[in-house]
Amino acid sequence: MINVLFAARSERWDQYETPLRAAFTEDGLDVDLRLDFPPHEVDYIVYAPNSLLQDFTPYTRAKAVLNLWAGVEAVVDNPTLTLPLARMVGGGLTEGMVEWVTGHTLRHHLGMDAHIINPSHAWRPRVPPLASERKVTILGLGALGLACANALTSVGFETHGWSRSPKAAPDIICHHGAEGLRPSLDQAQIVILLLPDTPATQDIMNAETLSWLAPGAALINPGRGPLIDDTSLIAALDSGQIGHATLDVFRTEPLPKDHPYWAHPKVTVTPHVASETRPVLAAQVIARNISNGEKGAPFEHLVDRRLGY
Ligand code: NDP
Repeated sequence: MINVLFAARSERWDQYETPLRAAFTEDGLDVDLRLDFPPHEVDYIVYAPNSLLQDFTPYTRAKAVLNLWAGVEAVVDNPTLTLPLARMVGGGLTEGMVEWVTGHTLRHHLGMDAHIINPSHAWRPRVPPLASERKVTILGLGALGLACANALTSVGFETHGWSRSPKAAPDIICHHGAEGLRPSLDQAQIVILLLPDTPATQDIMNAETLSWLAPGAALINPGRGPLIDDTSLIAALDSGQIGHATLDVFRTEPLPKDHPYWAHPKVTVTPHVASETRPVLAAQVIARNISNGEKGAPFEHLVDRRLGY
């Protein structure tokens, strides 16, 4: 019997209990899944970083912590966590992010707002450039960034991507490292942030990097709030250097009612909905990783604690 502790907010249990039990059965795993165990009897911890469980010290027998979320910034520095930590890859996150990013990119590319919001009923034909005439840059070419880059490439955009280590992908112009940041952003007309929140990525969009973009560029952030220096972004929106910002994630969530982003005419706020883990698909990812652990195979999607993602 494998003892699996579900350590997430109680409403998540209602969503995940049935899919997890089904996925364990499907994979032939004999699992006792519970919200509570004596800690020293737990083999695996299915985890959400906003769970009440913050001290991992008593989980002496556990083999891994399996995160339900892609982002791990709220758990990666936990000094009591020495177990392998796997993040969520798949579980519907990729498809959802591709759809959200493609939709919001096309909104800016096609200038849809001019037709949707037209109270004077003005007949004002404005033909957008073709996608191939538009430089779009994705910062972060991981599970989500690469899938979005592929989707935007298939629409026809001149797609650039930036990562920490070198990458090669058909039809995507890949940049990497500190020296690759400027060429990736230089004169970009739409920029999408899909980096993790780590000390190396915080404030990556600041007064200087925003000034490298094409005047009037759109900034789309489904990554994490701290990637943007908010004061610099508001200044760039006010000066016209940035034409519009579509922001899904923020330093404080929910975004406080009095935050300037809510009232800014050039900002679209979405409430951290870019992509959500889907229980049925995520349960299959978790079950596969527990199978790996039981077979002595390597866990998938392990976080590099040194890098913070
Ligand atoms: P991955 O870990 O697969 O990819 C991260 C990418 O960022 C990699 O390409 C990595 O480079 C790059 N990167 C990391 N640090 C640096 C750095 N210092 N310089 C340059 N590049 C860097 O993550 P995912 O694609 O799965 O997810 C990305 C983020 O999306 C998550 O961390 C999360 O914050 C956010 N997210 C948001 C959601 C939402 O609903 N808004 C939902 C899900 C995720 P390399 O390839 O070289 O390692």
